[in-house]
Amino acid sequence: MTLNRRNFIGAGVVTAASLAAPMVLGAGKPRVVVIGGGPGGATAAKYIAKGSKGAIDVTLVEPSRTYYTCFFSNLYIGGFRTLSSIAHSYGTLASKYGVNVVHDWAVGIDRDAKTVTLAGGAALSYDRLVLSPGIDFVDGSVPGWDLTKQNKMPHAYKAGSQTELLKAQIEAMPQGGTFAMVAPPNPYRCPPGPYERISMVAHVLKEKNPTAKIIVADPKPKFSKMGLFQEGWADHYEGMIDWIGSDFGGDNVEVNADEMTVSIDGEVTKVDACNVIPGMKAGRICEMAGVTEGNWAPVNGHTMQSRIDENIHILGDSAAQGDMPKSGFAANSQAKVAAMAIRGALTGSKVFPAKFSNTCWSLIDTDNGVKVGATYEATDEKIAKIDGFISQTGEDADLRKATFEESVGWYAGITSDMFT
Ligand SMILES: Cc1cc2nc3c(=O)[nH]c(=O)nc-3n(C[C@H](O)[C@H](O)[C@H](O)COP(=O)(O)OP(=O)(O)OC[C@H]3O[C@@H](n4cnc5c(N)ncnc54)[C@H](O)[C@@H]3O)c2cc1C
Repeated sequence: MTLNRRNFIGAGVVTAASLAAPMVLGAGKPRVVVIGGGPGGATAAKYIAKGSKGAIDVTLVEPSRTYYTCFFSNLYIGGFRTLSSIAHSYGTLASKYGVNVVHDWAVGIDRDAKTVTLAGGAALSYDRLVLSPGIDFVDGSVPGWDLTKQNKMPHAYKAGSQTELLKAQIEAMPQGGTFAMVAPPNPYRCPPGPYERISMVAHVLKEKNPTAKIIVADPKPKFSKMGLFQEGWADHYEGMIDWIGSDFGGDNVEVNADEMTVSIDGEVTKVDACNVIPGMKAGRICEMAGVTEGNWAPVNGHTMQSRIDENIHILGDSAAQGDMPKSGFAANSQAKVAAMAIRGALTGSKVFPAKFSNTCWSLIDTDNGVKVGATYEATDEKIAKIDGFISQTGEDADLRKATFEESVGWYAGITSDMFT
């Protein structure tokens, strides 16, 4: 498809009449429209509205009324959290900070007119636009799989019903059955996420189905916190997990959802549950806006402004920013930098140099938490890592328990920072 400055998703949804005479909502104050109510978008909407004390009109466009965090969704699979404990709503952003929350899809962006068209037909005009739509999947990334197969072979990489489905399928496996995961190629959301998930699946199976097997086909030769996970798998789930990296054919995979088979380097295995995590790209609205290069949307780390359109800021997983991993913590951190830059541009408030931080915690087994993290600064070229830390192999049980407890505190703190 040719990209131009006016592109629409699902042309059938937007009527010709609504395009000819768009109804433009909001007037007077500077206007910011935020697309996507995840860690990036919710934090940006809150911090722009809160920091400007009502001087900026902020509209958040998000189709779902309830946001389920992907972070801690693996713990739900493992039985350590309930689904309701990872659910958040947008009521406080509206009632406490005055954010105009619109539950709809953004289906088109006209960068010349500076308007966003919604599936419902309305158009929102903006002075600055924030895009934080997360990820979509790369078509054809795993041969045999597409979105029509997601009920038989769930991705569970957008949390909610997909996560519930995967958990139910794991729990319904026959005794001694086989669980397979097709892991994603780099770069993707949450580098340790697939491997924390394997740990949580193993935790469930060890209790309920101890003779079951887990196969992981991985297109990569190594992965985040690999030494820590492999040590944990050997100590806690001995003999259960067969990880097949690209050096052993893990990058040559095909699935058949009707037959429930996975072929790894030509060897076909019948499986009882299968988690396919395909290759990823920026949320599709970024492509529609014409702000992507390749799969991702390049940004300037000082302000998180698009390198293609300075009226647009792109946050979180969709952004090509440099050294930060695609994580909820990173999206939250980037959103605060963007909010400060937007307030500065629209109201003249003071802007400080951009600083970012991130930690990714993972749970291997009960009270056995590990972490990796870093701080970052913006350079003209990218968001650049300053220094980092990582849990060590061989740590004692008290330290691992403290790391897990730290992650529980982090979850409570960061979700409160985003949504309340
Ligand atoms: C299993 C797993 C475990 C993880 N664990 C961690 C962790 O421990 N720590 C951590 O920091 N991160 C973790 N992550 C990563 C984290 O969830 C993501 O990096 C984070 O959600 C990215 O935030 P975002 O705002 O970019 O996108 P998202 O959270 O995906 O939010 C995007 C929002 O945009 C909306 N949207 C999309 N398109 C449109 C449109 N056209 N119009 C309107 N709205 C739209 C979507 O409905 C969605 O709500 C994990 C991820 C997974 C999958």
